[in-house]
Amino acid sequence: MADFPTSAKVVIIGGGAVGASSLYHLAKKGWTDCVLLEKNELTAGSTWHAAGNVPTFSTSWAIMNMQRYSTELYARLGEEVDYPMNYHQTGSIRLAHTKERVQEFERACSMGRYQGIEMEMWTPEQAKEHYPFLEIHDLKGVLFDPSDGDIDPAQLTQALAKGARDMGAKIIRFCPATGVTQNKDGSWIVHTDKGDIACEYVVNAAGYYAQQVGEWFKPYGGRTVPMMVMSHQYLLTEQIPEIEAWSKANGKKLPLIRDVDVSYYLRQEKNGYNLGPYEPNCRAHWVEEADPMPDDFSFQLWQDDLDRIEDIVTDAMERVPLMATSGVSSVINGPIPYAPDGLPLLGPMPGVKNAFEACVFTFGIAQGGGAGKVLAEWIVDGGTEWDMWAVDPRRYTDYTDQEYCNLKGMEVYGNEYAMHFPWHRWPAAPDRKLSPVHDKVTALGGVMGDYNGWERANWFAKAGDDTSEDSTHTWGRSGPWEQRIKEECEAVRDACGVLDLPGFSRFWVKGAGADDWLRGFGTGGIPKVGRIGLIYVADARGRILTEMSCIRLEENSFVLITAATAQWHDGELVKRSVPEGVTVTETTRDRDCLIVAGPTSRDVLAGLTDADLTQGWLTHQHATVAGKPAFLIRVSFTGELGWEVHAQNEDMPAIYQAIIDAGAKPFGMWALNSLRIEKGYRAWKGDLSTDYSLFEGGLDRFVKLDKPQDFSGKAALMAEKQQGSKKRFVTLLVEAGDCDAPYMSCLWHGDEIVGETTSGAWGYRVNASVALGMVRADLAVPGTELEVEIYGEKCRAVVQEDRPLWDPENERLRA
Ligand SMILES: Cc1cc2nc3c(=O)[nH]c(=O)nc-3n(C[C@H](O)[C@H](O)[C@H](O)COP(=O)(O)OP(=O)(O)OC[C@H]3O[C@@H](n4cnc5c(N)ncnc54)[C@H](O)[C@@H]3O)c2cc1C
Repeated sequence: MADFPTSAKVVIIGGGAVGASSLYHLAKKGWTDCVLLEKNELTAGSTWHAAGNVPTFSTSWAIMNMQRYSTELYARLGEEVDYPMNYHQTGSIRLAHTKERVQEFERACSMGRYQGIEMEMWTPEQAKEHYPFLEIHDLKGVLFDPSDGDIDPAQLTQALAKGARDMGAKIIRFCPATGVTQNKDGSWIVHTDKGDIACEYVVNAAGYYAQQVGEWFKPYGGRTVPMMVMSHQYLLTEQIPEIEAWSKANGKKLPLIRDVDVSYYLRQEKNGYNLGPYEPNCRAHWVEEADPMPDDFSFQLWQDDLDRIEDIVTDAMERVPLMATSGVSSVINGPIPYAPDGLPLLGPMPGVKNAFEACVFTFGIAQGGGAGKVLAEWIVDGGTEWDMWAVDPRRYTDYTDQEYCNLKGMEVYGNEYAMHFPWHRWPAAPDRKLSPVHDKVTALGGVMGDYNGWERANWFAKAGDDTSEDSTHTWGRSGPWEQRIKEECEAVRDACGVLDLPGFSRFWVKGAGADDWLRGFGTGGIPKVGRIGLIYVADARGRILTEMSCIRLEENSFVLITAATAQWHDGELVKRSVPEGVTVTETTRDRDCLIVAGPTSRDVLAGLTDADLTQGWLTHQHATVAGKPAFLIRVSFTGELGWEVHAQNEDMPAIYQAIIDAGAKPFGMWALNSLRIEKGYRAWKGDLSTDYSLFEGGLDRFVKLDKPQDFSGKAALMAEKQQGSKKRFVTLLVEAGDCDAPYMSCLWHGDEIVGETTSGAWGYRVNASVALGMVRADLAVPGTELEVEIYGEKCRAVVQEDRPLWDPENERLRA
């Protein structure tokens, strides 16, 4: 092939909506020397048969950002690239059958408004005015989203492709990538039957083939792509005269209906209906040996299976009786890929340098526009405008075997529109990684949660407490756990509590020069030998990439401990940045950690250890506990006197038992969350994210602009220091009702949204609802009165002094 490119900056594998959008956005950023390979015709994967709905609704800030951006792009794209297409912003109405659903809508509505989407809450009667064919007698409320709509997915892909080509990017159709080879310098060769392409970066945008393509990257550090494939259907009805008449009279299409409590959408398609259910009685494909994934499924569908969706169709006919007047004209049943949480894999490919993923999209039409922008930012800028952890492929680590992916994928699909209550745990595929004291924790009543696949107790139930899934279906504070969390917090406040915390990510960094490396790695200082300190790592814009506890064992020997969920994110950050001669050994799986905290924790430990318990705050020592070797660190995320006790897995059962026998009360993650919020301690990817700079995050004391090392983000932070920060971190006392402020609740000042919460909980020591958040800098003044909108309820919130609410002088910690 004469014009076959032999080199490119980026090769994208896959020409669906997402691959095309990635190419378009790379070209938009000036990276026009990029190539997209498509094994068949563009759109041959999931894209061609997608229904094309483009919602913005989400309770995830990142996903909403991506979807909102898509709607804005699609509205102008046809004109921008001179490729007219069918994009109808019909608006949508979402139906709430319960109070909790109304609360969920209120929350999304408020987030939407913050992003500039004019969502509104309607009464059922208002909805009826806009949609006369709707049955409303049992509805509790309706969310109207004016930006919702539908697009022709093939036209969208072609428009993006045209735009990219016009800027100089290349698309080669009927050219499957057949493998990759990584060169020593980290660049790539992508192989095809038509020739090889040398490139700097590769993107896996292969849709439901992403796992197959992902296999090629294993020799270079890759893992099995965590995904599975579901069969997803929608049916089209025959034309309905009443719809035609309504459309003619009103000059527009009916708004799309999402009856989320029943689990379907219903959209006007020409003058009939398109009904798309997410049925609980769902069907996975290509997960059994007897049903292998074919090498090529381009432009193919499965046989329809209406029995599976019969109940939902019946329900829809009751909701919109007009539907029952027509027959089914056709059914589309196609493959749709699912990651275990139903969100895409978008960002750096775990373990592999210069490779990215933009695949496993279940809403790739709605998210495709935004996804292309995000992917291009990752590659060209090294970071994204919005924090995209929600979709970052590194959020999954070593626990996502195929069984897990299959079980979780089915669970998410069957609950696609379900509410995600803060107290609820989705039950499929538990127990991926167990602490060495797991049995003891559950025997004590531990009600478990999942943290990077590790089981940790969220709270401890007593005999007779309701631990059913049903009891967790609330946004409210109160539930069977409330009294227990209170008791657990009080035990930590008044006596001694113990929390088993498996899965802390641990990296042992040592070798000549480790100290110098660390000084240039973080933004601040490093601890002296024998001490522990926090270090923060910024991205080039000075935004918060991560926080690590840094334990200095010797001059050039450090242990970096970070959040369980940060394992692959931080592991890569550390491993890729250490200089030659400095080694990084990960010990995450070998050791377990207990938090032992409270004013009597010294007494509890005294009888069990030969450690010097008079050593001060922020120190560490090797010692024995219950006769077993252990490592004690004098820190406590609870804000009370306390130690972290680290030990080898095999030694932990004896240590845990001895501490319990000595009178410590087990407490769980939910108590810990309450305790840390009262101290203003930030949590990763809630309070600490790349949405905020270190200065905005109030981490000024961890930034040393005057140190000689040119750490990442230094120039940006210097500039921010001069120009001033736009936002500031604050602690708020909230006059909350039944619910505490979840992540991303809007902060109002008069009629203006001026910030958002990053976390919130009831503080049982201060006996108040507390929120941490970010507010416009001029309002970050103690005493400023704001309102925080919690599930639709505006609650008075007052900015507090910039110091912990509980034990502001840290006297209890230092006791
Ligand atoms: C019935 C149904 C209805 C849907 N409705 C909607 C909807 O209303 N809204 C919405 O947002 N989403 C919807 N979806 C989901 C949507 O279709 C997908 O999320 C989206 O199409 C994914 O786009 P993609 O580009 O990631 O993947 P794909 O469209 O699958 O593209 C991947 C491409 O990679 C190519 N490829 C694979 N391997 C190679 C290789 N080795 N070399 C070169 N090329 C390769 C494939 O041929 C394919 O064209 C629906 C899905 C189904 C099944």
